[in-house]
Amino acid sequence: MLQQPEISPNSYAPPQRRLLGPGPSDISTRVLQALAKPTIGYLDPSFVGMMEELKSLLRYAFQTTNALTFPVSGPGSAGMEMCFVNLVDRGDKVIVCRNGVFGGRMVENVERCGGTPVIIDDVWGQPVDPNKVEEALKQHPDAKVLAFVHAETSTGALSDAKVLCALAQKYGCLTIVDTVTSLGGVPVNVDEWSADAVYSGSQKCLSCTPGLSPITFSERVVEQVGKREQKCQSWFLDLKLLLGYWGETTRTYHHTAPTNSLYALHESLLALQQEGLEQAWARHQSNHIALKDGLAALGIDFVVAEQSRLPQLNSIYIPSGLDDKAVRAEMLQQHGIEIGAGLGALAGKIWRIGLMGYSSRVENVIACLNALESVLTNQARDCEPGAAVAAAYRSYAQQSLVAHPPRAAVCQPG
Ligand SMILES: *Cc1c(COP(=O)(O)O)cnc(C)c1O
Repeated sequence: MLQQPEISPNSYAPPQRRLLGPGPSDISTRVLQALAKPTIGYLDPSFVGMMEELKSLLRYAFQTTNALTFPVSGPGSAGMEMCFVNLVDRGDKVIVCRNGVFGGRMVENVERCGGTPVIIDDVWGQPVDPNKVEEALKQHPDAKVLAFVHAETSTGALSDAKVLCALAQKYGCLTIVDTVTSLGGVPVNVDEWSADAVYSGSQKCLSCTPGLSPITFSERVVEQVGKREQKCQSWFLDLKLLLGYWGETTRTYHHTAPTNSLYALHESLLALQQEGLEQAWARHQSNHIALKDGLAALGIDFVVAEQSRLPQLNSIYIPSGLDDKAVRAEMLQQHGIEIGAGLGALAGKIWRIGLMGYSSRVENVIACLNALESVLTNQARDCEPGAAVAAAYRSYAQQSLVAHPPRAAVCQPG
């Protein structure tokens, strides 16, 4: 007799949710349908044509002409690791900015590559301080790389990538930039910044399935990697080897590409290009402002100062006296809405409401405010019924007045 599973499983039917946490975000039907298309070989001429389009759509999303722009077969963490293992050799000094969880992971990566991290800490919730970075660059003229997170998902803070990349260039450093949460939600201009190694993730503002990491490398990186004497410590993430598959001229087997996930990424990037980057950024901003105005009516404050707030990741203080876990559980179970918990030092103190990519829609802002008001009321908070949603609608009306002021002639009676 063969062993049988101890349970008797059925086909899995996930519940319907609104994904308003730090990722994954909601996925549109058109992207989900792309996943269900027939699998073909990763060297099929048709698939190779799709890869070229995908690279071109990624260049648009990153605003770069870098030839070496492709999706890594692995989550954002794999993209992060790919940058570090290829650029950091044993003994290399790397300046790492740490203002949240993901900066901390960069430090881990440097250490595991045998490099020496020079850590610049900033308070969680604040952007990276360029003055401290310049000080460190002056003190460590032998530093090879400056690494920082553009959009810190653990805190909701946006740092000034243009200024940080310019500083790195001034002092002769290459840059590793994490744009996992920023790409598609706020401006990411790789060429304008002259950034060197930039990685992202498929499941945040690109609203594709988790598990792919778009990445782009400058010519300076290609040169640097070409000069390397020691072998890259990772076989799977060695840029030199991967070029055989994703490079310009050859298409040889490296690993089996996740074909259907790549169809989905192609579709989500196509949707982004059809909407237009500027329109996508404006949509994220508009829904953020409406959410913020609604939350204000519930007496809820933001963690991050207004000028460095991420529109796609709203980190807010949990009002005093509320049970973090009970509120999130009720949001999920009664309202089908996932919001994010705080991480590290901010655990139990904040919530993170993501309005990323396809999740950044008016109906989600309204549903979230409605649900939050109901849950807070159940948890014995005094909320004025309907005030949050009313504030959000007023906010949208106000925004459209600003965007389209009524013309005098239209307002005149008769
Ligand atoms: C989500 C995230 C990552 C990691 O991406 P995974 O796909 O979860 O591996 C890295 N950096 C930042 C800023 C993120 O938000």
